[in-house]
Amino acid sequence: MIEKKIYIVGAGISGLVAALELEQAGFSPILVEASDRVGGRMKTDEVSGFLLDHGFQVLNTAYPEAKRYLDFSSLHLKTFDPGAIILEGNSSYIITDPLRNPLKLVGMAFSKVGTFLDKLKIFTLTQELKKKSADDIFASPSLTTLEYLKNYGFSDHIITHFFTPFFRGIFLEKELTTSSRMFEFVFKMFSQGQAAIPAKGMGRIPEQLQQRLTKTKILFNCPVLSLEGSTLKLEDGTQMKADRILVAVQPDKIMKQLQGQFDPPKKVINLYFSSPKSILGRPMIGLVVGDRVINNLVCMEEVSEAYAPEGKSLLSVTVLESNLPEKELIKKVQAELEEISGQKAELFKHLKTYNITHALPQVGDMKYSIPATECKIHDHIFLAGDYLLHGSINAAMTSGRIAAEVIINSFR
Ligand SMILES: Cc1cc2nc3c(=O)[nH]c(=O)nc-3n(C[C@H](O)[C@H](O)[C@H](O)COP(=O)(O)OP(=O)(O)OC[C@H]3O[C@@H](n4cnc5c(N)ncnc54)[C@H](O)[C@@H]3O)c2cc1C
Repeated sequence: MIEKKIYIVGAGISGLVAALELEQAGFSPILVEASDRVGGRMKTDEVSGFLLDHGFQVLNTAYPEAKRYLDFSSLHLKTFDPGAIILEGNSSYIITDPLRNPLKLVGMAFSKVGTFLDKLKIFTLTQELKKKSADDIFASPSLTTLEYLKNYGFSDHIITHFFTPFFRGIFLEKELTTSSRMFEFVFKMFSQGQAAIPAKGMGRIPEQLQQRLTKTKILFNCPVLSLEGSTLKLEDGTQMKADRILVAVQPDKIMKQLQGQFDPPKKVINLYFSSPKSILGRPMIGLVVGDRVINNLVCMEEVSEAYAPEGKSLLSVTVLESNLPEKELIKKVQAELEEISGQKAELFKHLKTYNITHALPQVGDMKYSIPATECKIHDHIFLAGDYLLHGSINAAMTSGRIAAEVIINSFR
């Protein structure tokens, strides 16, 4: 064991991966976590027998870093059927596998979302992105996703009826202003992998990483107030001097000199309802087209039955923006669910609302990886977290791995 004091601030995915790498190099780091558990933005609560993820999110099975760090089989991954159910007015139609098998799309169903040319263009894009590495994607010029789709020649119809609701739910913004680099990366991942959740909730992912740690000490309920030199100051006044500190949380939170240097993060509201029966009837994402407060929804027990008690359906509803007070928002969502499904609004019993104010970082210059020089900001201080690259589980893992490598090298 190497006797060096390495503190990691934040036990999210990036901090946990860094701890794993440091352990493997012989160190015994100390994770200092503000909350009562690991996972950061990836947590699952159990409420009255339902499993509620903190915001609807999925693991893509093609993520290279997830394959490196996670044991998929013991997570008992449950996959979504590829494609989406488009919910428009009170009618719905399914497009199966648009990003993986575009040429096999059934003409009739696809004609509601796009033209034959759109189908061919999806096929071409899939082939192009298969050959383009993730590094090349993130080195490409950055346009807004909307500009990119228009430049690529996609019809307005497919942009409105498929790309917009699908990517809004991933980018958590309405106008598709997110960089085309992120669009290409997500498109590539979805055309090569599957959207999945662990059978017992997204929170199982950080828990699996935590279980693999054998030499790391985790201090829970220990919010760090500030970082001065190589000393961490906790909110309770405790001071801890370190050989190395890895800040695995947006650093302006604890380094006053960096305040104002980050754009405000993207927000999202996730509401959960129980209902007597599934309104989608299959393990697929439902995309709501048109002027509605709901952007997308999923009946979680269709994907993994452990998410709801037997005989109940668990609806996870994503709302991108709303200024309504919570009670009114719940009523509005229930009314929209009635319009969409034909089932009475009162059958949708509200379980919980997660108002997530820090969902995804706003990153101007999105990257796939980071040079060592960019995650070291001082001889003793290093950075990790998705905010350095782009908002994804893969990015958080990459940043944790690279920061750990830089720290290990700093002792040589
Ligand atoms: C609603 C939602 C949907 C998403 N959808 C997807 C998706 O479908 N696919 C995908 O790949 N990614 C998705 N993401 C993104 C993904 O969850 C994140 O990129 C990833 O979890 C970020 O990990 P992190 O370690 O960088 O940060 P965090 O998870 O934010 O971890 C930071 C940790 O630091 C702790 N902390 C904060 N301040 C302090 C302090 N002062 N002292 C001590 N500890 C502190 C926090 O409690 C937290 O545990 C989604 C995120 C959200 C919220």
